[in-house]
Amino acid sequence: MATRAGKEARISSINRGGASLRGPPHAPATEAAAERGLRPAPWSDAQIVESAIDAIVATDPSGRIKRWNQGAEALYGYSAKEVLEKPVSLILPRGRPSEHEQLFPRVLAGERIEHYRTQRRRKDASTVDVSLTMFPLLDAAGQIVGAASIARDISAHLVAERELRASEGRYRQLLDAAYEGVWRIDTELVTDYANQSMAEMLGYSVEEMLGRGLSDFLDEEGTRKAQASTLRQREGAKERLEVYFLRKDRTRVPALISVSGIFDEAGQYVGNLAMCTDVSEQREAEARHRETEAFLESVAASMDEGLLTLDGTGRITVVNDQARRLLGYEEHELVNRTLCESVGREPGDGPPSQRAGSGLASISSSSSPMRLDDEVFTCRDGSCLPVALSAAPLGERAGALGHVVVFRVLTERHAAEESAQRELEEMGWIGHLRDAIDEERLVLAAQPIVSLLTGEVTRQELLVRLRDRAGRLVMPGEFLPAAERFGLIRELDRWVLGQAVRLAAENQIVNVNLSAHSLGDPHLADAAERMLREAGAEPWRITFEITETAVAEHLERACKFATQMSELGCQFALDDFGTGYGAFTYLKLLPINYLKIDREFVHDLPENPASRHLVQAMVSLARCFGQQTIAEGVEDAGTLEILRELGVDHAQGYYIAPPGGAARASGSISGTH
Ligand code: C2E
Ligand code: MG
Ligand code: MG
Repeated sequence: MATRAGKEARISSINRGGASLRGPPHAPATEAAAERGLRPAPWSDAQIVESAIDAIVATDPSGRIKRWNQGAEALYGYSAKEVLEKPVSLILPRGRPSEHEQLFPRVLAGERIEHYRTQRRRKDASTVDVSLTMFPLLDAAGQIVGAASIARDISAHLVAERELRASEGRYRQLLDAAYEGVWRIDTELVTDYANQSMAEMLGYSVEEMLGRGLSDFLDEEGTRKAQASTLRQREGAKERLEVYFLRKDRTRVPALISVSGIFDEAGQYVGNLAMCTDVSEQREAEARHRETEAFLESVAASMDEGLLTLDGTGRITVVNDQARRLLGYEEHELVNRTLCESVGREPGDGPPSQRAGSGLASISSSSSPMRLDDEVFTCRDGSCLPVALSAAPLGERAGALGHVVVFRVLTERHAAEESAQRELEEMGWIGHLRDAIDEERLVLAAQPIVSLLTGEVTRQELLVRLRDRAGRLVMPGEFLPAAERFGLIRELDRWVLGQAVRLAAENQIVNVNLSAHSLGDPHLADAAERMLREAGAEPWRITFEITETAVAEHLERACKFATQMSELGCQFALDDFGTGYGAFTYLKLLPINYLKIDREFVHDLPENPASRHLVQAMVSLARCFGQQTIAEGVEDAGTLEILRELGVDHAQGYYIAPPGGAARASGSISGTH
């Protein structure tokens, strides 16, 4: 198109003002023509006319066609032969003669008409869009002898132009409809275009924005920034600026703008274009995030669990004290790194049971809370830390604000699991115990208690054991907690009491342990009384061993029971004396005959003077109340000697005799330790 335009310009300059189509090739210009500014062409008119691509038609003053070049043949479809001497109206479209009637006389009067857009008619009756240049024809004397027209087919050009307009329209539509604000300023930095979004962002109408300068829409700093940037954009720079726009109501809008210079086809700077995004929501979200983080930090500081927060890109932002302590890292060593980078383990690291799953990597992209029960973190010293963790997104939009991760060290969980396991085992004991009672596999061991004054065995403590189906003896420490917890202890104590009554009936003197539950049993006293009566046993042969803790649990009933049984003649020993609280109270409240000094004060008597003082104090106390003392857990001769020196009345322990067969015990009393 450019070459065609160039050609048209050349032809028109050749023919500037007018041209001669006749006469010698180098005919000099006449003075008349020169006076009117019309110069004859220096080249052969015929040559030019024939070789021109454009359609050149010459007519005489009456409008009869005198010249018709090849270009005309091609454009209009008529051969020269067909049209010569015919009126030029032949190629005028129907309905347009008046146009020709106006123009033709003007040309005959010497006027040149350039690039007149009109239409011409072809031989096949179709019309063609042309750009017409008309000028008068001069003879050698400079007289106007006709008119010539140079027509160029511009239909393709018009189509292109229409397309361009359409595409510009579409482009404009796109800009108008764009979600982002589009703002254009001219070379004077005055707004010459703004789309709807831009106007809305600033609270103006599009029309109100036009013609206004930078400072109408930007605060002082923004204006300075933008002005400086436009200078760089003139040099071709494209920049992103963070600015505050001033709305019509003078409130501020934080915005991100991408700016660039606009240049025309010739590369001339014609203005600047800015794509503007309102980032107030983003800024608010960031502010909320900061608030959330501050809140989390204060909560995190007081947590027992480790806590880490991740930003929207999965990088650690906050680490609480506990996490630092557990992982051995300082906060700055973790911040800005991802979980995988900082505490994650390589897929191949460690034994299979300690390999981290792919869970860590998926936390930052998860839009819902998640739990990972078996992760392994790597501490700063390279050691493995088995953890259970939960992670939850911060804010409503997935990943937008980040995540919070809370983790617990699994060893703590293991402790909880162990206690659950213990509970399970205890529960298992209910069945064993039930079966053992039913199958008469409960056995009693008897441990002698000797008088330190005479050295004789004065009585025996009955201690229960369970013989399992394999014949092994199970110690009470294993099954009594379960029996107490699940309500079998009363039955067990009654069974032991039954055995004790039988032994008493055989003239044995026995000590029987009673649990707290039994002390709380309102029917126990009557049952014991009945048993003694039925067995014909003397009540004084039975001593009930009760602990301070058991008494404390059922003080009222324990008092009642003790009163009833002691009135009957039974004796009472306060077991494990000195290990509980409120012993003095019980000494006053209960009819206690013996204080059993706990092993705690006996086992280190030879080397610990404090124990000596305590034992001595207990002895004095007992004497004040008219009670006797029994030292438990005597394991050597030295201890026994000290106890004797301290005035303790009785002793019991492995040194004297371990729990074993009860003297003259009946069949169900064990003969072994
Ligand atoms: P306890 O009544 O204080 O019994 C003394 C415990 O000390 C017995 O443990 C006994 O075997 C142990 N012992 C005796 N001499 C020594 C010694 O020189 N050194 C050491 N280290 N220990 C000694 P056992 O038989 O395992 O009984 C533990 C506890 O179970 C008893 O403490 C008692 O509270 C309870 N218990 C035992 N039999 C019965 C029972 O028939 N009914 C109830 N309710 N509780 C019982
Ligand atoms: Mg005891
Ligand atoms: Mg004891």
